[in-house]
Amino acid sequence: MNVISTDAKLDALKQVPQYKLQAISRLEKLLAMSGEEKRREIERKLAEQLKYAFRNSEYYRQHFGEAGITSEEQLSPDRFRDLPFITKADIRNAYPWKLLAGSMADVGRYAESTGTTGTPTSAYFSRNDWLENNVFVGYRLLDMFTPDDVVVIAAPYELSIPAQDLERIFEMIGPTTIACGVLNEVCNWDRLLHIIEHVKPTALVCSATRALLIAETAVQMGLDPVKDLSIRKILNIGETANQPKSKKISEVWGAEVYNAYGMTESCAMGISCKHGHIHLIQERYYFEVIDPVTKQPLPQGEVGELVITSLSNQSMPLIRYRTNDLVCISESGCPCGDRAPILEHYGRIGEEIRFEKEQVAISYPKLEEKILKCESYDKFFKVELDAESFEIIADLKPGYTIDQFRDEMKEQLPLSIHHRFTARTFTPYERARLLDGLKNSLKPFGKLFSQRTVQA
Ligand SMILES: [Zn+2]
Repeated sequence: MNVISTDAKLDALKQVPQYKLQAISRLEKLLAMSGEEKRREIERKLAEQLKYAFRNSEYYRQHFGEAGITSEEQLSPDRFRDLPFITKADIRNAYPWKLLAGSMADVGRYAESTGTTGTPTSAYFSRNDWLENNVFVGYRLLDMFTPDDVVVIAAPYELSIPAQDLERIFEMIGPTTIACGVLNEVCNWDRLLHIIEHVKPTALVCSATRALLIAETAVQMGLDPVKDLSIRKILNIGETANQPKSKKISEVWGAEVYNAYGMTESCAMGISCKHGHIHLIQERYYFEVIDPVTKQPLPQGEVGELVITSLSNQSMPLIRYRTNDLVCISESGCPCGDRAPILEHYGRIGEEIRFEKEQVAISYPKLEEKILKCESYDKFFKVELDAESFEIIADLKPGYTIDQFRDEMKEQLPLSIHHRFTARTFTPYERARLLDGLKNSLKPFGKLFSQRTVQA
């Protein structure tokens, strides 16, 4: 047993509120800054983070050393773009603790990726990192949630970050949370729907595909999500949600829809405003967009790979981390008044239909967006593809024919690949199987696209 004085114990308990107050005071200063002052502050934090990583992380000293950077002086911001990237593979190879900077005693959170796209990777945050993130995200979520809200969190808890992150934030800003999780025995689909029907929550946090799936399950149980259920706010996390998908979710639930962007390694990096734009949280990360092939920076407004650098991470600094996410970042002209740049997420690199001969590549989220834009399309779809062609199997609204859907899709697809595309509707068995598969998946979006099995 520890021998520790009463004063020391009380001081230990005061640490968390003190960290929070420090983060709030930093936020307050940033909010009072002009655009130019903020840009300079971000540059200062960037320089500080590079030096911190060099001083406190064996991993980064070695990593920079391999690129010929052997002293702190060589880490000046004007040479930032000479710094080598780190990739998902580097993070995987550093599993579990090689990226640790500073003291293990400072680490407050440890998480792992789901491993749906390979071997898991680890991520860790100091209490300071974690609480600062809570404060910066909480400030934004206050635009959406009030203490009167009762929020169902139907996102993974085990080993994960977003659900726990949001819980801590909700604790600060007031709503009641109900931790339902996903894919667990205690709160299965029946229990989740029972809670939504009887406890009467006002808000739902889950991935976009799951939001549609929960509504569809309610319909199959004879409930009308708009008339019979009370959810009027939905925050989508963990998956790309384009505008037509947000609109669809809004319609089926009769709810306002918001989106958050982030990853296990980073916590949240962007939150959407009431106009549906995801504004970047520039106070915690420095964002670059590069051409994934040449690795050269792209001008603002072009689609490329997102590269992030943390500005104040203590336990796991991320320096020029290639996220493997395709994005477009543009200046904010948003009527909400937030000057932070706007991010559009186009999915993960490699998750696309690609026909080399026609030089056409369409990311899965972009293809989904095209499907959802069709007037004839109703609720769920599945894309089956192989090297030569792709087929969209889709629900249609009553009164529409598959020919109408096919024509609407063709209008949106490049002419050169029309011969590679077919469309049809589900058989009842196929549709039931798809919904079952989605319900049993941690990341249902990926299940909407599948490679056709090649017949031997
Ligand atoms: Zn906005």
